Amino acid sequence: MIGRADTTRKSAAFDDKKMDGQAHHGIVPTVCVTDLSALTEIERNVYDLVVRSYLAQFFEHAVFMQTRIEVSCVGERWTANGKTPVSAGWREVYAPHEDAPPQTAVDGETDDGKQTLPDMAQGDPAMCTACDTTSRSTKPSARFDEASLLTAMIDLHKFTTDPAAKARLKEGKGIGTSATRAGVIKDLRERGFLEIAKGTKNKLTSSASGRGLLNALPAPVKDPTMAGMFKIALDGVAGGQITYDQFVERNVAFITKVIAGLRTSSMNLPMAPAPACPKCAMGRLRRIAGNDGHFWGCSNFKADPKCSASYPDRDGAPDFTPKLKPKSKGFGFKKVGAM
Ligand SMILES: [Zn+2]
Repeated sequence: MIGRADTTRKSAAFDDKKMDGQAHHGIVPTVCVTDLSALTEIERNVYDLVVRSYLAQFFEHAVFMQTRIEVSCVGERWTANGKTPVSAGWREVYAPHEDAPPQTAVDGETDDGKQTLPDMAQGDPAMCTACDTTSRSTKPSARFDEASLLTAMIDLHKFTTDPAAKARLKEGKGIGTSATRAGVIKDLRERGFLEIAKGTKNKLTSSASGRGLLNALPAPVKDPTMAGMFKIALDGVAGGQITYDQFVERNVAFITKVIAGLRTSSMNLPMAPAPACPKCAMGRLRRIAGNDGHFWGCSNFKADPKCSASYPDRDGAPDFTPKLKPKSKGFGFKKVGAM
Protein backbone atom coordinates (compact mmCIF):
# COMPACT_ATOMS: atom_id res chain seq x y z
CA MET A 1 0.00 0.00 0.00
CA ILE A 2 2.83 2.40 0.88
CA GLY A 3 4.08 1.94 -2.67
CA ARG A 4 0.92 3.66 -3.94
CA ALA A 5 1.64 6.83 -1.98
CA ASP A 6 2.29 9.74 -4.31
CA THR A 7 5.04 11.75 -2.62
CA THR A 8 4.66 14.60 -5.09
CA ARG A 9 1.31 15.48 -3.50
CA LYS A 10 1.52 18.48 -1.23
CA SER A 11 -1.35 18.52 1.24
CA ALA A 12 -2.45 21.46 3.39
CA ALA A 13 -0.06 20.16 6.05
CA PHE A 14 2.78 21.61 3.98
CA ASP A 15 1.21 25.06 3.88
CA ASP A 16 2.59 27.24 6.64
CA LYS A 17 1.23 30.50 5.22
CA LYS A 18 -1.30 30.95 7.99
CA MET A 19 1.23 30.23 10.72
CA ASP A 20 2.83 33.59 9.92
CA GLY A 21 5.87 32.97 12.09
CA GLN A 22 3.77 31.96 15.10
CA ALA A 23 4.88 29.20 17.42
CA HIS A 24 3.28 25.89 16.57
CA HIS A 25 3.66 22.17 17.12
CA GLY A 26 4.30 19.48 14.59
CA ILE A 27 5.42 15.92 14.25
CA VAL A 28 8.40 15.61 11.96
CA PRO A 29 8.97 12.16 10.50
CA THR A 30 12.53 10.89 10.65
CA VAL A 31 14.28 8.06 8.86
CA CYS A 32 15.17 6.32 12.13
CA VAL A 33 13.98 2.77 12.15
CA THR A 34 11.95 1.97 15.24
CA ASP A 35 11.88 -1.41 16.88
CA LEU A 36 8.10 -1.77 17.06
CA SER A 37 8.32 -4.85 19.23
CA ALA A 38 9.84 -2.73 21.97
CA LEU A 39 6.70 -0.57 22.19
CA THR A 40 3.77 -1.22 24.46
CA GLU A 41 0.39 -1.77 22.83
CA ILE A 42 -0.73 1.80 23.51
CA GLU A 43 2.52 3.22 22.17
CA ARG A 44 2.23 1.05 19.09
CA ASN A 45 -1.33 2.23 18.49
CA VAL A 46 -0.32 5.88 18.75
CA TYR A 47 2.63 5.25 16.45
CA ASP A 48 0.32 3.48 14.02
CA LEU A 49 -2.12 6.43 13.98
CA VAL A 50 0.66 8.94 13.39
CA VAL A 51 2.06 6.86 10.55
CA ARG A 52 -1.34 6.46 8.91
CA SER A 53 -2.22 10.17 9.25
CA TYR A 54 1.10 11.11 7.69
CA LEU A 55 0.74 8.56 4.92
CA ALA A 56 -2.88 9.46 4.11
CA GLN A 57 -1.95 12.90 2.79
CA PHE A 58 -0.01 11.30 -0.08
CA PHE A 59 -3.08 9.50 -1.33
CA GLU A 60 -5.77 10.74 -3.67
CA HIS A 61 -9.03 12.27 -2.47
CA ALA A 62 -11.72 9.81 -1.51
CA VAL A 63 -14.49 9.96 -4.11
CA PHE A 64 -18.17 9.47 -3.35
CA MET A 65 -21.33 9.78 -5.33
CA GLN A 66 -24.03 11.88 -3.74
CA THR A 67 -26.91 9.44 -3.88
CA ARG A 68 -30.62 9.91 -3.45
CA ILE A 69 -32.81 6.89 -3.65
CA GLU A 70 -36.55 7.14 -4.11
CA VAL A 71 -38.60 4.05 -3.53
CA SER A 72 -42.27 3.59 -4.09
CA CYS A 73 -43.85 1.21 -1.60
CA VAL A 74 -47.58 0.58 -1.10
CA GLY A 75 -48.39 3.84 -2.79
CA GLU A 76 -46.06 5.88 -0.59
CA ARG A 77 -42.86 7.52 -1.72
CA TRP A 78 -39.81 6.98 0.48
CA THR A 79 -36.50 8.69 0.05
CA ALA A 80 -33.01 8.11 1.36
CA ASN A 81 -30.04 10.41 0.98
CA GLY A 82 -26.46 9.32 1.41
CA LYS A 83 -23.32 8.63 -0.45
CA THR A 84 -21.96 5.77 -2.46
CA PRO A 85 -18.20 5.22 -2.35
CA VAL A 86 -16.52 5.35 -5.75
CA SER A 87 -12.85 5.19 -4.87
CA ALA A 88 -11.46 4.95 -1.36
CA GLY A 89 -8.51 7.32 -1.93
CA TRP A 90 -6.79 8.17 1.36
CA ARG A 91 -9.41 6.20 3.28
CA GLU A 92 -7.63 3.10 2.08
CA VAL A 93 -4.83 3.93 4.50
CA TYR A 94 -7.24 3.61 7.39
CA ALA A 95 -9.15 0.60 6.09
CA PRO A 96 -8.14 -2.59 7.88
CA HIS A 97 -7.73 -4.58 4.66
CA GLU A 98 -6.22 -3.58 1.40
CA ASP A 99 -8.71 -2.95 -1.39
CA ALA A 100 -11.62 -3.23 1.01
CA PRO A 101 -14.27 -0.54 0.62
CA PRO A 102 -14.15 2.16 3.30
CA GLN A 103 -15.51 0.79 6.52
CA THR A 104 -18.60 2.40 7.85
CA ALA A 105 -19.54 3.02 11.41
CA VAL A 106 -22.60 1.56 13.09
CA ASP A 107 -25.89 1.59 11.21
CA GLY A 108 -24.21 2.27 7.89
CA GLU A 109 -23.23 5.79 8.86
CA THR A 110 -19.92 7.11 7.64
CA ASP A 111 -17.82 9.28 9.92
CA ASP A 112 -19.38 12.46 8.52
CA GLY A 113 -22.85 11.32 9.54
CA LYS A 114 -24.07 10.43 6.06
CA GLN A 115 -25.29 6.94 5.44
CA THR A 116 -23.66 4.79 2.83
CA LEU A 117 -26.02 3.75 0.06
CA PRO A 118 -25.52 0.90 -2.37
CA ASP A 119 -24.74 1.50 -6.02
CA MET A 120 -28.16 1.48 -7.70
CA ALA A 121 -29.58 2.24 -11.11
CA GLN A 122 -32.90 3.77 -12.11
CA GLY A 123 -35.62 1.15 -11.96
CA ASP A 124 -33.76 -1.30 -9.69
CA PRO A 125 -36.26 -3.26 -7.63
CA ALA A 126 -36.15 -2.94 -3.87
CA MET A 127 -37.76 -5.12 -1.26
CA CYS A 128 -39.28 -3.67 1.85
CA THR A 129 -38.19 -6.14 4.51
CA ALA A 130 -39.27 -4.39 7.67
CA CYS A 131 -41.53 -1.58 8.66
CA ASP A 132 -41.57 0.29 11.90
CA THR A 133 -43.36 3.38 13.13
CA THR A 134 -42.16 5.60 15.87
CA SER A 135 -44.34 8.13 17.55
CA ARG A 136 -42.54 11.34 18.31
CA SER A 137 -43.45 14.95 18.81
CA THR A 138 -41.48 17.95 17.72
CA LYS A 139 -40.27 20.58 20.10
CA PRO A 140 -39.55 24.18 19.22
CA SER A 141 -35.86 24.98 19.46
CA ALA A 142 -34.87 26.51 22.77
CA ARG A 143 -34.81 30.28 23.01
CA PHE A 144 -31.44 31.96 23.02
CA ASP A 145 -30.07 33.55 26.12
CA GLU A 146 -27.12 35.89 25.93
CA ALA A 147 -24.57 33.07 26.28
CA SER A 148 -26.14 30.82 23.64
CA LEU A 149 -26.61 33.77 21.29
CA LEU A 150 -22.90 34.58 21.61
CA THR A 151 -22.10 30.95 20.81
CA ALA A 152 -24.46 31.09 17.82
CA MET A 153 -22.59 34.14 16.51
CA ILE A 154 -19.36 32.15 16.70
CA ASP A 155 -21.02 29.06 15.19
CA LEU A 156 -22.75 31.08 12.50
CA HIS A 157 -21.70 28.49 9.90
CA LYS A 158 -24.42 26.22 11.32
CA PHE A 159 -27.03 28.67 10.06
CA THR A 160 -26.15 28.59 6.37
CA THR A 161 -26.28 25.78 3.86
CA ASP A 162 -24.01 27.47 1.34
CA PRO A 163 -20.83 25.33 1.38
CA ALA A 164 -18.39 28.18 0.63
CA ALA A 165 -19.89 30.56 3.19
CA LYS A 166 -20.12 27.73 5.72
CA ALA A 167 -16.43 26.89 5.38
CA ARG A 168 -15.33 30.52 5.57
CA LEU A 169 -17.51 31.32 8.58
CA LYS A 170 -16.26 28.23 10.39
CA GLU A 171 -12.66 29.18 9.71
CA GLY A 172 -13.21 32.77 10.80
CA LYS A 173 -15.17 31.83 13.95
CA GLY A 174 -18.43 33.43 12.79
CA ILE A 175 -19.12 37.12 13.03
CA GLY A 176 -17.62 39.73 15.28
CA THR A 177 -14.77 39.27 17.71
CA SER A 178 -14.73 38.44 21.40
CA ALA A 179 -14.45 42.20 21.91
CA THR A 180 -17.52 43.14 19.84
CA ARG A 181 -20.09 40.30 19.99
CA ALA A 182 -21.48 41.12 23.45
CA GLY A 183 -21.76 44.78 22.39
CA VAL A 184 -23.91 43.84 19.40
CA ILE A 185 -26.40 42.06 21.65
CA LYS A 186 -26.35 44.95 24.13
CA ASP A 187 -27.08 47.41 21.30
CA LEU A 188 -29.96 45.30 20.01
CA ARG A 189 -31.46 45.24 23.49
CA GLU A 190 -30.99 48.96 24.06
CA ARG A 191 -32.58 49.74 20.72
CA GLY A 192 -35.51 47.54 21.64
CA PHE A 193 -35.04 44.89 18.95
CA LEU A 194 -34.39 42.16 21.49
CA GLU A 195 -36.16 41.74 24.78
CA ILE A 196 -36.46 39.23 27.58
CA ALA A 197 -39.11 36.65 26.73
CA LYS A 198 -42.18 36.76 28.94
CA GLY A 199 -42.12 34.29 31.79
CA THR A 200 -38.36 33.80 31.58
CA LYS A 201 -35.45 35.29 33.45
CA ASN A 202 -32.88 35.61 30.73
CA LYS A 203 -34.23 34.10 27.50
CA LEU A 204 -34.22 36.50 24.61
CA THR A 205 -36.94 37.07 22.05
CA SER A 206 -37.28 39.49 19.18
CA SER A 207 -39.52 42.45 19.90
CA ALA A 208 -42.32 43.55 17.59
CA SER A 209 -40.05 46.24 16.15
CA GLY A 210 -37.23 43.70 15.75
CA ARG A 211 -39.52 41.45 13.72
CA GLY A 212 -40.81 44.45 11.78
CA LEU A 213 -37.26 45.37 10.84
CA LEU A 214 -36.44 41.81 9.80
CA ASN A 215 -39.56 41.60 7.67
CA ALA A 216 -38.67 44.85 5.96
CA LEU A 217 -35.11 43.83 5.10
CA PRO A 218 -34.46 41.96 1.85
CA ALA A 219 -33.50 38.30 2.26
CA PRO A 220 -29.75 38.50 1.47
CA VAL A 221 -29.12 41.13 4.14
CA LYS A 222 -30.38 38.95 6.96
CA ASP A 223 -28.96 35.69 5.66
CA PRO A 224 -25.81 34.52 7.52
CA THR A 225 -24.53 33.41 4.10
CA MET A 226 -23.98 37.09 3.40
CA ALA A 227 -21.47 37.36 6.26
CA GLY A 228 -19.53 34.44 4.80
CA MET A 229 -19.59 35.94 1.31
CA PHE A 230 -18.37 39.20 2.74
CA LYS A 231 -15.43 37.47 4.39
CA ILE A 232 -14.64 35.65 1.15
CA ALA A 233 -14.66 38.97 -0.71
CA LEU A 234 -12.33 40.48 1.91
CA ASP A 235 -10.01 37.48 1.50
CA GLY A 236 -10.03 38.35 -2.20
CA VAL A 237 -8.81 41.85 -1.37
CA ALA A 238 -6.15 40.48 1.00
CA GLY A 239 -5.02 37.95 -1.60
CA GLY A 240 -4.97 40.50 -4.41
CA GLN A 241 -7.67 38.81 -6.55
CA ILE A 242 -9.76 41.95 -6.42
CA THR A 243 -8.68 45.47 -5.62
CA TYR A 244 -9.87 47.47 -2.66
CA ASP A 245 -11.68 49.84 -5.02
CA GLN A 246 -13.47 46.97 -6.75
CA PHE A 247 -14.54 45.66 -3.36
CA VAL A 248 -15.91 49.04 -2.27
CA GLU A 249 -17.56 49.56 -5.66
CA ARG A 250 -19.25 46.18 -5.47
CA ASN A 251 -20.58 46.90 -1.98
CA VAL A 252 -21.73 50.40 -2.83
CA ALA A 253 -23.69 48.91 -5.73
CA PHE A 254 -25.21 46.27 -3.47
CA ILE A 255 -26.12 48.66 -0.66
CA THR A 256 -27.55 51.18 -3.13
CA LYS A 257 -29.75 48.44 -4.55
CA VAL A 258 -30.92 47.38 -1.08
CA ILE A 259 -31.75 50.95 -0.06
CA ALA A 260 -33.56 51.59 -3.35
CA GLY A 261 -35.65 48.49 -2.68
CA LEU A 262 -36.42 49.62 0.86
CA ARG A 263 -37.52 53.05 -0.36
CA THR A 264 -40.29 51.58 -2.46
CA SER A 265 -41.22 48.67 -0.21
CA SER A 266 -43.91 49.10 2.36
CA MET A 267 -41.96 48.98 5.57
CA ASN A 268 -43.95 48.19 8.62
CA LEU A 269 -41.98 48.95 11.75
CA PRO A 270 -44.28 48.54 14.71
CA MET A 271 -42.37 50.64 17.18
CA ALA A 272 -43.31 50.37 20.79
CA PRO A 273 -45.04 53.64 21.69
CA ALA A 274 -42.17 55.70 23.00
CA PRO A 275 -43.03 58.82 24.99
CA ALA A 276 -41.98 62.12 23.41
CA CYS A 277 -39.13 63.92 25.11
CA PRO A 278 -40.63 66.78 27.17
CA LYS A 279 -37.38 68.71 26.95
CA CYS A 280 -36.70 68.93 23.22
CA ALA A 281 -40.10 67.68 22.00
CA MET A 282 -38.39 66.25 18.90
CA GLY A 283 -36.80 63.15 20.41
CA ARG A 284 -38.37 60.08 21.89
CA LEU A 285 -37.54 58.70 25.28
CA ARG A 286 -36.03 55.25 25.35
CA ARG A 287 -35.58 52.89 28.25
CA ILE A 288 -31.89 52.23 28.70
CA ALA A 289 -30.17 49.71 30.93
CA GLY A 290 -27.66 51.70 32.94
CA ASN A 291 -25.11 50.59 35.49
CA ASP A 292 -27.49 51.48 38.33
CA GLY A 293 -30.62 50.07 36.74
CA HIS A 294 -32.83 51.38 33.95
CA PHE A 295 -33.38 55.00 33.09
CA TRP A 296 -34.98 56.90 30.22
CA GLY A 297 -32.89 58.93 27.80
CA CYS A 298 -33.70 61.08 24.80
CA SER A 299 -33.11 59.59 21.33
CA ASN A 300 -31.53 62.92 20.36
CA PHE A 301 -28.60 62.38 22.70
CA LYS A 302 -26.23 62.39 19.74
CA ALA A 303 -28.14 64.84 17.57
CA ASP A 304 -27.06 68.40 16.85
CA PRO A 305 -28.10 70.21 18.98
CA LYS A 306 -28.03 67.30 21.34
CA CYS A 307 -30.58 66.66 24.04
CA SER A 308 -29.33 65.10 27.21
CA ALA A 309 -32.70 64.71 28.90
CA SER A 310 -32.78 61.72 31.21
CA TYR A 311 -35.42 60.50 33.63
CA PRO A 312 -35.44 57.79 36.25
CA ASP A 313 -37.35 54.63 35.52
CA ARG A 314 -40.39 53.83 37.59
CA ASP A 315 -42.04 50.47 36.82
CA GLY A 316 -41.01 50.58 33.19
CA ALA A 317 -42.09 54.20 32.55
CA PRO A 318 -40.19 57.48 32.76
CA ASP A 319 -40.65 59.27 36.06
CA PHE A 320 -41.17 62.97 35.29
CA THR A 321 -41.52 64.00 38.93
CA PRO A 322 -38.88 66.70 39.32
CA LYS A 323 -36.10 65.80 41.68
CA LEU A 324 -35.92 68.16 44.62
CA LYS A 325 -32.17 68.26 44.61
CA PRO A 326 -30.67 67.70 41.20
CA LYS A 327 -27.34 65.92 41.66
CA SER A 328 -25.23 67.76 39.12
CA LYS A 329 -26.32 70.72 37.09
CA GLY A 330 -29.38 68.63 36.49
CA PHE A 331 -29.64 69.07 32.76
CA GLY A 332 -32.76 67.34 31.76
CA PHE A 333 -34.66 69.26 34.37
CA LYS A 334 -33.30 72.64 33.49
CA LYS A 335 -35.77 74.93 31.83
CA VAL A 336 -34.74 75.66 28.27
CA GLY A 337 -35.61 79.21 27.39
CA ALA A 338 -39.11 80.52 27.42
CA MET A 339 -41.65 77.86 26.53
ZN1 LIG B 1 -34.96 65.38 24.06
